[in-house]
Order: sequence, then structure tokens, then C-alpha cells
Amino acid sequence: MAEKIILKSPADIAMMREAGRIVARALAEVERIVAPGVATAALDRAVEELIIKAGGIPTFKNYPASEAGTPPFPASICASVNEEVVHGIPGNRELREGDIVSVDVGVHLGGWCGDAAKTFPVGKIGRKAMKLLQVTERALGRAIANARPGRMLREVSGAVQREAESNGMSVVRQYVGHGIGRDMHEPPQIPNYVCGPDERLEGRFPDCRLLAGMVLAIEPMVNLGGFEVLTGRNGWTVYTRDRSWSAHFEHTVALVGDGALVLTEL
Ligand code: MG
Repeated sequence: MAEKIILKSPADIAMMREAGRIVARALAEVERIVAPGVATAALDRAVEELIIKAGGIPTFKNYPASEAGTPPFPASICASVNEEVVHGIPGNRELREGDIVSVDVGVHLGGWCGDAAKTFPVGKIGRKAMKLLQVTERALGRAIANARPGRMLREVSGAVQREAESNGMSVVRQYVGHGIGRDMHEPPQIPNYVCGPDERLEGRFPDCRLLAGMVLAIEPMVNLGGFEVLTGRNGWTVYTRDRSWSAHFEHTVALVGDGALVLTEL
């Protein structure tokens, strides 16, 4: 049975908007400083400082692993480079001209959470990488356009899948978007594809009608190659099995009136 989706009041959504605004400011700061020669740990330090100065708490820092024996996440951002998909741990690795880096940021403010991600080009990037970024960002936009009260959740999922696959790319299956509120991860799960018959039988991602007051973190992860992913030795960093490059764009959106309000923009 599907877990119950927690609807948010207008006052709750106003609080989440403030958490989301800090997330947006953090990603804008990353955009300002990302460059060849910059280590991913420097991006993490800048974001952590910004979040704390703004009165927020970095949600990802010390986030517990789902796998027993894996230490909690050690940083305030996920920084995933090139073939890394999500959950990359910031470190000494210096970004190089032509790389892409996906940065995911979560903030708690006053007990409410915001979550967003964006893939940044490092200096001048190749044509295929540029197309990957454009398609993934457009997939997020199309998904948000379908995230309206009265529609079905699968219309959000399908919009991502159509945009990616019609451009010869694939969507990651193993990681999905999610409801969000006081906790970063709440029901429903939001796959970036429409479940096939087998998955539907398992009830893995139950479809549902979208209602005003739902707040969703929609996050397409799109690969240039196949959809399969693996987890690295650190227990966190996820990368593509075929080592093709991957992009990740995410917004937290609230369903209000007859549309979606993006909470994680400036
Ligand atoms: Mg998320």
C-alpha cells in the first residue's frame, strides 16, 4: 500500500519557499565560482558557509546511508563529475576544462526542507555534453509543466522520459524524485520514466493523482549512454555502468492553484 502523502498548507509552503531560496542562492554561488582548477571541496565549503550564514542547516551533511556499514554523507553538497550521476563526495579533485559537474544542495530552515540540483559546465565543454545539459534541463521544465493539481504523477514521469529518449539519451531508473516537506524524502517516489508492466505488478512506484498542497522534488538524471548505474567503493558515489556522462537537474515545486510554484529559485 502506498504511504500517505503529506499535504502542505499555504503557510507551510511559504516556509519551504524560504528554505528553497537559500538552496537557489547556494547554486548561484556555485555557478559563480565553478571553473577549471577549482576543487569540488571548495564548492562544498562555499555552499556550507552560505547556508549557515543564512540561518539554515545543510541537510546532506551526516545524512545516514541506506547501506549498513557505509558512513554518513560527509559534506554539504553532492558533487558528481562527468560519468558520476549523483551522491559524489566533494574532495581534492580539481575540475578541468570540458568537465561537467552536477551539484545537489539540500537546506533545512525552520524545520522545512528545500532540495535542488544543477549540472554546470566547467569552462568550454564539448557539443555532446552541452546537449546533455540542455536536454536534462528541458526535461525538468517539461516535467514541472505537467506537475499540476488534477494530473497524474505518471504524466510528470513520462515527460522526462520522452524528452530524454527522443534525444537518444536514457533516464536513470535506480534513483528517483520524491515528495519533500519536513523530511527531505517523503512519499510519493517520482520515477523519471513510466513503469513497464513488470514494475507496475510489483507496485514499485504507485501512480497517483496530483493534489494542491503536494510538494515534490522532481529530479531527472539523464545519461548519454545506457541507464544502468553502479555505486563506488565509498558507498555513496553513483556512476554510469558504461561510463557515459550524466546530468542532473532538480527543483522543489509546490502544487498550488492550477500549476506548480518553483520553490528553489531566487
Ligand atoms: Mg532530491
